Amino acid sequence: MEIYDIAVTGAGPAGCMAAIRGAQLGKKVILLERNDKIGRKLLLTANGRCNLTNTAPFEVFLEMFGKRGSFYREIFSKFSNQDLMDFFKKYGLKLKEEDNGRLFPITDDAKSVVDVLKRVLDVTGVNITYKFRLNHLKKDSDIFTLSSKDNKSIQAHNVILATGGTSYKFTGSTGDGFKIAESLGHHISQLNPSGVPLLIGEEWIHELQGITLEDVGLSIGVKGKIKSLPRGRLLLTHFGISGPVILDLSHNILDMMDENSDLTLYVDFKPDVSIEGFEENLMSDFLEYSRKSLKNYLQNHLPHNMVLPILECLSIDPQKKLNQITKKERKQLLKTIKSLPLTITGSLPSDKAMVTCTGVSKKEINPQTTESKLVKNLYFAGEIIAGCGRRGGYNLQQAFSTGYVAGESASHN
Ligand SMILES: Cc1cc2nc3c(=O)[nH]c(=O)nc-3n(C[C@H](O)[C@H](O)[C@H](O)COP(=O)(O)OP(=O)(O)OC[C@H]3O[C@@H](n4cnc5c(N)ncnc54)[C@H](O)[C@@H]3O)c2cc1C
Repeated sequence: MEIYDIAVTGAGPAGCMAAIRGAQLGKKVILLERNDKIGRKLLLTANGRCNLTNTAPFEVFLEMFGKRGSFYREIFSKFSNQDLMDFFKKYGLKLKEEDNGRLFPITDDAKSVVDVLKRVLDVTGVNITYKFRLNHLKKDSDIFTLSSKDNKSIQAHNVILATGGTSYKFTGSTGDGFKIAESLGHHISQLNPSGVPLLIGEEWIHELQGITLEDVGLSIGVKGKIKSLPRGRLLLTHFGISGPVILDLSHNILDMMDENSDLTLYVDFKPDVSIEGFEENLMSDFLEYSRKSLKNYLQNHLPHNMVLPILECLSIDPQKKLNQITKKERKQLLKTIKSLPLTITGSLPSDKAMVTCTGVSKKEINPQTTESKLVKNLYFAGEIIAGCGRRGGYNLQQAFSTGYVAGESASHN
């Protein structure tokens, strides 16, 4: 049986880059993919537009990976955001920068990113084998045997596992790599997912699905203290809340939940004005528009389809004129508009998250090379590695950088 220099499993961004780098360095590389095409998840990124990296400076990049971000110091030095931009430029795909340093292909189409990867895989002579679902990996006398579900076998001197996590399972990333890594003695760190919608206990919120709150302030009650969070766009859904700001914060909020059973998120519909300032506004409006109904007036401060449900929760008659509102009712309204409490009860399952975060423990991976500290010549790349970055292109850069470093390191054996 032919023995490859490198067998890469998983043709997502990490596996493709790993295979390309190995082949560029003259190695005989096979790329095994269970689907019949490469990059299925990549096609879905950023609603099909693919936010493939970020222009943030190096140190910010590390911070975006949280407490253990320094794990990536060497990896991002060896293949940086600039290197990724140069790679796509070299192969004819221009990128453009949008807000917060996010980079997209100029085509606004993730397919053009996948097309470049496919073309470079072909040009560099990588042997791509589709419909090969790795089921078992063993090592005897320095040679790995990779066996598929349907009993096909491949042999290689080096193996790179780039099988992704467990989010959006229909794309092929079902966590197979975790089981294979465990079978070789690795530990899987169980972490909260990232980029996942949150569940809210208040059922009346579920009935308001589809409402977007364009720019709301957020804070959270933790251990009796109120911690302020970034503001942004929030979407109400049939189970709770989603939208960019929630997807950004979900990982940290879920971490806080692990330590506290009850978490309350406070939504501020008027984040540009203090509570005192807003109370003054209410009092002067109540005088000036005294004959106006509360229901109509509140549409100045709340999305119109939230007004009646909120007044029902507060047991205030929506038809009341502003000059009939009692001080107690005014205080209730003030509190609700400035800090509507929502009880967070959990999140959708990690299958619905953008990034799994659970993965092979970083403690068992050499941060210079991505090689396993337990099994020589076994490497990890991409989302299979525990932890995750913030939204904004950081996770795809992580996939490309770890892939590049794994491909290069495996070539030096
Ligand atoms: C909806 C969505 C939007 C996102 N948007 C962005 C974004 O804009 N920017 C960003 O930075 N990140 C984004 N992400 C995250 C990003 O897609 C991932 O971080 C990235 O795809 C991980 O790359 P990977 O190569 O490690 O894994 P994957 O892309 O998951 O690829 C793994 C590959 O391995 C294959 N595979 C799995 N098991 C086996 C097996 N047993 N045998 C053979 N093959 C196997 C799979 O079929 C798959 O092709 C998004 C994620 C989602 C779900």
